[in-house]
Formats: sequence, structure tokens, C-alpha cells
Amino acid sequence: MTLLEKAELLSGKDYWQTLDFPKYGIPSIFFSDGPSGVRKQLKNPGAVGLNLSVPSTCFPSSGTTANSWDPDLLESIGRAIGEEAVAEKVNVLLAPGLNIKRNPLCGRNFEYFSEDPYITGLLGASFIRGVQSNGIAACVKHFACNNQETRRLSIDTIVDERTLREIYLSGFETAVKDGKPQCVMSAYNRINGDYCNENIHLQKGILRGDWGFDGVVVTDWGAENDRVKGLIAGNSLEMPSTGGETSRDIVAAVRCGLIEREDLDLAVDRLLTLVFNTEKVFRKKRKPVNGRLHHELARKAAEESIVLLKNDKNTLPLTTNERIAVIGDFARTPRYQGAGSAIVNPTKLENFWNCIQKSSLNVVGFEKGYQRYGRNDRALLSRAVSLAKKSDIVIAFVGLDEVTEGEGFDRTSLSIPLNQQILINNLCAVSNKMIVVLVGGGVVELPFADRVDAIVDAFLGGQAGASALLNVLTGKVNPSGKLAETYPLLYGDVPSAKHFADNEKTVEYREGLFVGYRYYETARVPVRYPFGYGLSYTQFSYSNLSIDNLGVYFVVQNTGVRAGAEIVQMYVGKNDSALFRPSKELKGFKKIFLQPGEKRKVNLFFDERTFRYFNVLTNSWDVEDGQYQIMIGGNCEDIRLSGTYELKGSSAPLPYDRDRLPSYFSGRIVDVAGPEFEQLLRHPVPNPNQDLSFRGKHIVVDYTTVVADLRYAKGFSGRFFALAIRSSMWWLRHFNRRQQANTIQFGVYYQPMRSLSRMTLGKISWKQLDGLIAMFNGHFFKGFYYFLKENHRRRVLAKAEQISLESDEAKLAEIQSRNEQYRDLSKKEAEEETLRTRSRHDA
Ligand code: BGC
Repeated sequence: MTLLEKAELLSGKDYWQTLDFPKYGIPSIFFSDGPSGVRKQLKNPGAVGLNLSVPSTCFPSSGTTANSWDPDLLESIGRAIGEEAVAEKVNVLLAPGLNIKRNPLCGRNFEYFSEDPYITGLLGASFIRGVQSNGIAACVKHFACNNQETRRLSIDTIVDERTLREIYLSGFETAVKDGKPQCVMSAYNRINGDYCNENIHLQKGILRGDWGFDGVVVTDWGAENDRVKGLIAGNSLEMPSTGGETSRDIVAAVRCGLIEREDLDLAVDRLLTLVFNTEKVFRKKRKPVNGRLHHELARKAAEESIVLLKNDKNTLPLTTNERIAVIGDFARTPRYQGAGSAIVNPTKLENFWNCIQKSSLNVVGFEKGYQRYGRNDRALLSRAVSLAKKSDIVIAFVGLDEVTEGEGFDRTSLSIPLNQQILINNLCAVSNKMIVVLVGGGVVELPFADRVDAIVDAFLGGQAGASALLNVLTGKVNPSGKLAETYPLLYGDVPSAKHFADNEKTVEYREGLFVGYRYYETARVPVRYPFGYGLSYTQFSYSNLSIDNLGVYFVVQNTGVRAGAEIVQMYVGKNDSALFRPSKELKGFKKIFLQPGEKRKVNLFFDERTFRYFNVLTNSWDVEDGQYQIMIGGNCEDIRLSGTYELKGSSAPLPYDRDRLPSYFSGRIVDVAGPEFEQLLRHPVPNPNQDLSFRGKHIVVDYTTVVADLRYAKGFSGRFFALAIRSSMWWLRHFNRRQQANTIQFGVYYQPMRSLSRMTLGKISWKQLDGLIAMFNGHFFKGFYYFLKENHRRRVLAKAEQISLESDEAKLAEIQSRNEQYRDLSKKEAEEETLRTRSRHDA
């Protein structure tokens, strides 16, 4: 292959496929989302957008299935999704998402497993194994620290190395080492200054160096900033296509020695390995997908993942003699999956109201109760209250609608909409028994928790979630799900509440290791429902703990009258640590199914990750000497058995000075001051907001400037553009068009300038972008002229290309003409190109 061909191979052909080279026998391969089912566009599969996709089974979202704590289940889901992907000729499934739920407001939490890296890694690895058992590739994403959606394409995550390794990378590490995915997706954001895709420490150092990953790193869609830097860091594929434009950068960089030819060849080899590995499977004859079985698996997944949060006076399971009122819009128009690139077009869709009508329960009626998108409606409310009065028991469905959480934006509050809260208050006043069913992909505040009799968290249950919920409510299925994320009492209790989605340029992870239960437990902050919590219709006892060098052994017994499953959890702590540490961290778990009265001996093994910590002095994993507390229980608060374990550590020098890090040593990290955070970081904290020093109060607009920040541009056109977008969002929200406002927010407002080229398959060139940038920087006419000139040049080129495409061997001619175009680059142009690349790197 020529240099240019190699460079072109490492960029997309369109939105979803890589480039094919028939003359070398290289086919293109197809990428599709995602985590809860295959999303392959129905019409024009290669085109940009979130259009209707081919029907495929919609499994519960990852935030839901995590509550099953069942790696085998995740493997089965992965296998089933993989099977459907093969049927659609998809080579790479863009899943699973392994980011940590740092803050409950992150709009995309529904797509991630947990606030804890241990469970994240285990479930992720199982899902990957399932997908790849079909012969195609899984692609873990978004590597790494993509923990907020606000400004996700530009935000710089400021995080200390230990927290990065122990919290944000540890799940990826397990998934990569144990699940062996063939592909990793680099995240949009930066970490400590460098874009993830250009981050040598992250990719070359950790992913490839420490973990031995030798597969393909693909950019998140449009995450490419500087392709040359990306390739140097270890990236193999830019997606989607940039119309050949960035390939020229690669050619120039190889010519001037910035990129070694061997490194380019290595990236090509990696990509070709992925291509040929995954193409093989399509040559085999396979049985057609059994949609019925997959629907049943989706139901089983939802059943195992529903969490019973409260059940006073055995309100549940339901009995046939009670008169039941079903209230709430979500009962009839289900909220069953998350919004964004994970959206699946389900093969079937159940709704609760239909399911319950077909059951033998005594149902008195349904009322919508509230307007889904928050508007007050007194008539709906009063009809719901009248229905409740005619019943013995009310099942009220409340939660988050699809416009409140989703990809590309974060929630602004932890509450459910006010009109739903008012409904619950009114229903509580008139009903004898009140069951609340929560739906949605994120945790919410539950101010009504003490006033209702039962709460069932159904999360986003996928296409068969409704019948699964009914089975749990009637007791056909004994609930066994446990929370993989804490329910705090109030948003203000969340450790990252003061440092989330607030700055223009950075997000500071000042809470360090104290994410989720690691904080609540250490600082003894009360929560609504702790991590690992979930009730059952039966009870379990724990006894006979013994600990040896391999792990722990104990006995669990089902002491109730129903069969059921218990998720036993092992936490490890070290009271006398010379470092700072969370008081306990999850290091093992198992889901045990027991008949009434049945006892089982359980063992949970230690592994090389049980006692380790990341030492920033030695830059390696070390183990502290001494005694560790081993805690066994049903959730992180409910520790039933505990013991100690003595260990000889690595005697490495200790990295921290207690006096300089008082908040971290006490675990009370909500008010960590800048200087203390700098001590932890070991480098200065960068300016969190725009630097307005350019000519008084402006910024220098460049390729990385997001549209929102054009409000600081020197050029009036830039300021006007930002204002126009901002006010259109305001008006749309004002007129209750939140969906459109959200789309503009993440599709335009928080996009960097470079996306104009990156996300249009190169329809807007880098040079045209230069024109726009000049306009926004105050050189309106010069920039405008430049833009038009470039526009004209491209039109002439496009015409020439069109003519050549019309020839008999259109495909071949297209490739040849592109090659020639590059070969004919005049000497001057090639030199300019080289200089441009070099100066970008120097900068
Ligand atoms: C998302 C990825 C997704 C990709 C392709 C991006 O915006 O962040 O998760 O795989 O689009 O749809």
C-alpha cells in the first residue's frame, strides 16, 4: 500500500464504516452501537445521524443490568446482542460503556454500570466475552474519565494519578485484561491537559504498556483533534471519515519524520487484524436469530435487575383479592431505554398496563396522573385521586422522562418533576396502601420514601421490562437486584456536588478516591439507600466466617419461606493505614440462589487487586503491610461478618504527608481547598475558565473553541452566533421543546469549531474553518473572503471528482484520482503542509 492508502485506511469511509481497498482484498468493516442492543440505521446505514435503526432486541440498559450483580447474565446478554450484530453484518459493537458514575446527574449514567470500578470491570469483561464469542469485536468506551456530558468534547478532567488508576481506570483494566476486547474507544475529553486520544500516558503508557492491549483504539465519533498526535499516542482509527483531509496530515508527518513508518505500519496491522478477524464470521453459515428467546432473555435480565427498595408490612407481593389502581403515564407509555446513541428500535415493546390487565389481579383502572414533561394538569391529578379512592392499593409510576436524561447533556436536579411529587402527595393522602414504581436511568431524591408503603426500582427495563416488573410485583419472581449506585438523601450530599459540570474549561475531581459509597461510608454521611442494597421477599443469614491466604469462606442460609437469591459482598478496609483510604472497598461478590431453609458454603477469593494501592512515588501498584479488615454483608452498610487478615506488603516509600492532606486523611472532602488539591495532584490546578486576556476581554478562537465560548470572541459575528444559539435554546425550553433544545445544546452549542469539519465527513474543510475562525477573531471580511475562495476551490475539485466517478471503473478511479491529487501536491504545498504540521506540534 502507498503511504496515502495506509493513512486513508486509518480513517472512516463514512459515518460507520472503514475504507475498503478491493485491489488489496481489504473489505470495509461496520461499527454499530451499542450497549443495550444493536443500532444499525435502517436507511442509508453509512450516513450520519440517529435515524430509525433495524429492529433488534432492546435489553435493559447497563445501569439496570448492573443491579443484577450477575456476570453470567451479562455474558448471555453480550452473546445475544453479538448474535444480532452478526446477523446485521456488524463487525464491531460499540459497547460496553465503562465510565464510573462519579456524579448522579451525569446524563449518560444509564449507560454505565456503577460508581464502583470492581463491579464495573467484572460485568464489563463478561459482556465483552459474550459479544466476542460470536467472532465479532466489542469496543469498550469511553476511555477515560468521560464522567459528565456537559462540554464533553472539550472539558479537561483534572484528576490525580492515584484516583485515576484506582477509580477511573481500574474497571477498564479488568475489562481489558480479562475480557480481551479487540477495540477500545478513546473518549472526547482531555485528562490533565491532553485529549484522551492524544494522551500518551493513557494510551501508550497504561493501556498498551501496562495492560498489554494490542488491539485497535478508535476515536469516539468526532473526538479526533489532531490526527498526527493521536497516531503517535497509539490510535489506529479515526471515526467518522474526514473526507481524506486528515490523511494528508499523516502523510506529511511521516515525510517529515514526526511519525515513524513502522508506527504507521503497526497501526495498519492492528486495523487489518481487526478487519480480517471479524470478517471471517460472515463467511460461516449461521442459524437465524431467535427473537423470542432474546425477548425472554431481556425479561430475565430485567427481573434479575429490579431492586425492591422498601416493602413495609409485606405490601408486596400483590394478592388477587386487593383492588388495584394503576396510576402514572409511564405505566402505559413505558420509559424503557436511554436516549442518544444507545437507542434501539425494539423488536417488541411491552407496557405495564397491558400486562396487568391480562393477569388475574383485580385491577380497577388506569389514570395518567400527570403530564409526562412536567406541565401541571389539575384534571389529570383529580382523576387519579378519584381512582385511588376506589382502590385498596395504588401502584404509582414516577420517574425521569427521556428528555431529562440522555447522551450529550446532564441533569440539572436530582428531583423527579414537581407535578409527579404533587401526585404522590395527593395519592398518599387518600390511599390505603401505596406502591411507588420508579423508572429512569439515574438515581433521584426520594422525599416521599417514608410516606409510601413500598418502592420498587424498575430502572430502564428494556423491551420486556413490563412483564418482568409484573412478575416481581406478584411474587412470581423474588426480587434479587441490589443497587450498584448509592441513593443519596439530597444532591448536596454527593461528594462531587461542588465540582461537577460547572466550569468552562476544566472539571476538578477534588473528591479524589471518595466517590459514591467510598465517601458516604468513610465520612459517615447518611444516605437513602446504600450501595449494594436491595430487599427480597425472603431473608438470609450469614455465619461461620473463616479467612485464609486464598480468600474468605462463610455460610449463607435462606431463613425465609420463599426461594430467592442473595448477593453476598466482600469489602476490604485498613483502619491503621498510613495512606488515606476509603473505609471500605468492594473486592468480591457472588449471587447465590437458595431454596427456603437451604444453606450454602460460599467462598470469595482474593486476587492481585484486593489489597493493592497505586503509589504515586514508585509509580506502581504497591501493597501496604499489616492488618486489613475483611467485611462480609448484604450491602456496604449491612456488614454481617467481619475478620482480619495480616499481610506482608511491598514496603515501598509512602507517598503522602498527612498534615498537607487533612481532608483526604479524614475522608471529609466536600470542601477541599485549591492548595490542598494541588498537593494531591502534585501540579498546579489550571485556570478553570476561559482566559480573557486577549485584547482586554476576549479569547483567541481556534479549532478547539466550543461554540458556547464564542461569546468571548473578538469578532461580532462570533458573539452573535453564540447568542443566537443560546437564545434559541432558551426559547425552545420556554415553550417546552426540551428535546430540541437538548439536541442543539450537545449538537451545536458544546461542539468545538473543529467538529464542523470532523462531523460533516469533511464537507467543510479545514481551510474553510480557518476562514470562519478568522471571522470570529475579528477579521470578518478577510475570513469571509477566505471561506468563499476555499468553497469555490472545493466545488471545482468536487466537479472533477464527479466526472472521474462517472467513468466505468468508478471505484478504482476515485482512489487513483485521490492518490494523484496528493502525489501532485506541488513542492511548495508539501513544504507548507510539513511546516504547518511541525508548528502545530511545536505549539
Ligand atoms: C458516543 C459513543 C457512540 C458514538 C457512535 C458518540 O457520540 O459518545 O458512545 O458509540 O457516538 O454513535
